[in-house]
Amino acid sequence: MHYNLRTGRLGFKVGKLMFLKKSVKVQKHIEIAPKLIVRRTGMKKIADITDKIKVLFYKKSQLTTIKPVADAIKILNAVKRGVLYTTAVATMCFIVYGSFMSLDITIAKNVLINGKSVGTVTNIEQFKDYYSKLHEELQHSLGESEIGKVSYLPCIAFNKSVNDEYTLKQNIMSLYDGVINAYSVYVDNEFVCATLEKADLEMALETIRTSYGNEETATFVQDIEIKNELVTSSNIKFGENIKNELLSSKSIESVYVATKEQSMWEIASMYGMTIDKLEKMNPGIDGAVLDGTHINIIKSVPVLSVQTTAHVEGEFDIAYKSEIVCDKTMAKGKQKITVEGENGKQFVKKDIVFINGEEITETIHEKTIIKEPVTKVTVVGTKLSGIGTGSFIRPTYGSLSSRYGTRWNRQHQGIDISASAGTNIVAADDGVVEFSGWEGGYGNLVKLSHGNGYTTYYGHCSKLLVKKGQIVEKGQVIAKVGSTGRSTGPHLHFEVRLNNIPQNPLEFISSN
Ligand SMILES: [Zn+2]
Repeated sequence: MHYNLRTGRLGFKVGKLMFLKKSVKVQKHIEIAPKLIVRRTGMKKIADITDKIKVLFYKKSQLTTIKPVADAIKILNAVKRGVLYTTAVATMCFIVYGSFMSLDITIAKNVLINGKSVGTVTNIEQFKDYYSKLHEELQHSLGESEIGKVSYLPCIAFNKSVNDEYTLKQNIMSLYDGVINAYSVYVDNEFVCATLEKADLEMALETIRTSYGNEETATFVQDIEIKNELVTSSNIKFGENIKNELLSSKSIESVYVATKEQSMWEIASMYGMTIDKLEKMNPGIDGAVLDGTHINIIKSVPVLSVQTTAHVEGEFDIAYKSEIVCDKTMAKGKQKITVEGENGKQFVKKDIVFINGEEITETIHEKTIIKEPVTKVTVVGTKLSGIGTGSFIRPTYGSLSSRYGTRWNRQHQGIDISASAGTNIVAADDGVVEFSGWEGGYGNLVKLSHGNGYTTYYGHCSKLLVKKGQIVEKGQVIAKVGSTGRSTGPHLHFEVRLNNIPQNPLEFISSN
């Protein structure tokens, strides 16, 4: 039926179908082509109503009233006002009311997404609420740009053909390729993957949870949430891949605190990062990093971690401690154990917490000492003997300026080590100071007797730091380099004598 707004004439185009009610077949959720059409021929813009106002008539129903007649008027108010308009409304209402009183029809809205019909609703506010939720879900799985624009087309529909939320959702989803209603798993609010069957997901989680033993204590460290929602099909995983996704690692930004002086290169390699990336994350830091410096890093952590607790009880050893006691009466270098150490024993009840099988903490609930440990005592002698070991160390550092032997037709009885004035001179071996003072050409001289036939001489000193009779230790500072006596510049004249016969010192110490 056509209604021409300009001429006000009504025409029935598919009137046969309309009036032969029995022949109207209505399939669930599928609209039969409109039987009544009010067309605005030749009219331009009339409010926001689209070109056609569909009037849909379906199966006969038990109810006989048309509820929202007022709404029909509202809708048509948008159509041009005036006599033609009034006539149109009146005729419209008359036809609707008069001809189809016995049908359960209602004023509704046809919902269009990107121009495609997805269903019929009566409560538009309710649909908007519902769609905004669905829209969010779709955005989540499709991304902002791909979501369609919604428009509404007023229509008259059978109450029965008004769609429920489930049908609307199915129809809307059918518009988007690859969007599937599935079960998503979120770990600490982050999407990991989805499955078609909830049981597959639950089984994968359970397999992971129980894979570290101590099943009754095993829990996930992270929050796990399973949501029934729309996801893109590429996020759907099957079989082993579900587990693999959950067991994978992800990169997170973190902070590393240097535990010693470290190079940036070392830190980068610790976390498998490139040095460029690490330096970019830490502007202003390059080269070496001091102990305690905070460095931004990216590290890899497992998506999912399992915490297990092992309850342990039994007897455990208590390790013994060690103590050292100095003894002035015992020769230096000697030591003896006076008390042997012995482990103690204790009964312990404790919980050991593991994360992914790695021990993290230990909580002791009960501790009973069965046997105290015995501290090991070692007595160490500190008494200097003044007896040489028989081996000599270099008495000072500097260059060898004169060797032992004949020099200018004279016998040089030691070696000269050239060093700047004030340089430390140390005892070449343990010994007793036999002389410390001025001695002719030697200038300031220290003579050490090593108690084994050897004596050593340290000549031309600027300062003498030991006294006659004093016991000295190998390596102890006894004097300072100088140029006293017959000397042309600061150096140490060093002699080694065996039973007072000069020896070549280089046979006892190295020349450099
Ligand atoms: Zn000399």
